[in-house]
Amino acid sequence: MSSPDLNDADRQAVINVINTPILSMGKYTADFEKSFCDLTGAKHAIAVNSGTAGLHLCVRAAGIGAGDLVITTPFSFVASSNALLFENAIPIFVDIDPKTGNIDPELVADAARNIEKYLPQRFDYAQRGKLKAILPVDVFGQPADMDAINAVAKEHGLAVIEDSCEALGATYKGRHAGTLGEFGVFAFYPNKQITTGEGGVIVTSDDKAAHFMRALRNQGRAPGDTWLQHTYLGYNYRIDEMSAAMGASQMSRLDEILSKREQVAAWYESRLKAIAGVEIPFIESFTTRTSWFVYVIRFDKKINRDEMAQKLEARGIPVRPYFLPIHLQPYMVERFGWREGDFPVTEDLGRRGLAIPFSGVMTEEQVDYVCNIIREELTLNVKR
Ligand SMILES: *Cc1c(COP(=O)(O)O)cnc(C)c1O
Repeated sequence: MSSPDLNDADRQAVINVINTPILSMGKYTADFEKSFCDLTGAKHAIAVNSGTAGLHLCVRAAGIGAGDLVITTPFSFVASSNALLFENAIPIFVDIDPKTGNIDPELVADAARNIEKYLPQRFDYAQRGKLKAILPVDVFGQPADMDAINAVAKEHGLAVIEDSCEALGATYKGRHAGTLGEFGVFAFYPNKQITTGEGGVIVTSDDKAAHFMRALRNQGRAPGDTWLQHTYLGYNYRIDEMSAAMGASQMSRLDEILSKREQVAAWYESRLKAIAGVEIPFIESFTTRTSWFVYVIRFDKKINRDEMAQKLEARGIPVRPYFLPIHLQPYMVERFGWREGDFPVTEDLGRRGLAIPFSGVMTEEQVDYVCNIIREELTLNVKR
């Protein structure tokens, strides 16, 4: 499905670390963090051991607690909602823009004004807190419409946590994904644009929040605390030096990594746009750079996506439905009583979307091969 884009320098960076005795909280973590300030212009970057951990720290820093309401999207990887559940906050889902799959800013505005209409079916009113934040996701590497979302946040006094875990290096009206809200989070699992094996980075320009998150990452040790003093309830969300060194090495050639992915996306586009029954990704005019994360095509309603997926797998092409809606995950249904039909656009994209093999190390021949098999299987499908 995907492949990391690693070179000899990345490998050497890891070897350099393991030739020293400092394997955590050293110079490579600091270098890695600095590369995010340099790229995005954010004042602070805090490296952690996953994107999920980063989102959780942002939720804590935004003061979101039990029963608090946060407007977010059901069309995402589960971690964006789970970070809220870790604090017993309540994700208030609104549907998405059918073209991009990003949260619909008009629905965000409506939800902030008429929150009652958007509360889950099953919901403990006694536990209900306040509407505290908006958590948009930059889906598949394309920024959400953040100006519109920030305007709603400003009007209602809400924090904005931008889940940019799929959008490292993307820009919105020339500004970097991750810096468009108060907090932004990037992630580096091996299928992301750059990888550290496991890892994440938070960016923010809020000094107080940054110090708090640094403390929480490190078992709640505030500046001045000794090794066994813990001012706050914290976590072990530290990244190790091997991961940070690998990440810093890739960050030094991020532009090249993203350009290769752009090239692969362009190869796909030129071939797939000619195939009837397949929709290719739509890019908004305000997206000044897409940071291609996955390549998700959509089949026409008449075509059975799951059957196509099976046929492609049978011919050796790995594919994945993308995303299975969050509100229909079993634990979400059990906890909040969501039902099929609650978020029709999300469900429709969830039924028709298929991620096809994608990475910056794919060759044009491989793209050709995948597209030819998709074309063949679709032709057979239509004939049958
Ligand atoms: C990858 C991803 C995350 C977090 O990923 P980790 O695996 O915890 O690093 C969060 N949100 C979205 C939308 C993601 O795609």
